[in-house]
Amino acid sequence: MLKPELRPHHALCVRFFRGLGYSDGFCCNMTAVIAHLMTEDPLLTVTDGADMICAGCPNSISGTCTGSEKVSRYDRRVSELCGLSPGMTVRWSELYAAAYARIVQKGLLTEVCGDCSWHDICSQSAL
Ligand code: SF4
Repeated sequence: MLKPELRPHHALCVRFFRGLGYSDGFCCNMTAVIAHLMTEDPLLTVTDGADMICAGCPNSISGTCTGSEKVSRYDRRVSELCGLSPGMTVRWSELYAAAYARIVQKGLLTEVCGDCSWHDICSQSAL
């Protein structure tokens, strides 16, 4: 299994993933990572770089996201709202629940990641 690292905003993406993505490889990896998170509830290291989900993404070039301005902004905002910082260790279920309670339930998804290309799909599921 890949290094147990997760970017904070991916705690939101996991909740709204519906099998769509940037490529077949991305979707396959995302599905496998979600199954791992939900069944194993691992301890994760919070990272501001490429993580288990980025590993399957065609936009990740040598570990750097080509959309890094946006995703770094999403990570910073999720971190502020959920009390996270890079290097911190957190249980998956706690991160997932915190992102839901402090962002989704408070109606802040659009503020956090409203300019993401998947936002229309995710925000419909968040209603
Ligand atoms: S809108 Fe984009 S960043 Fe936000 S949860 Fe959906 S896929 Fe993730």
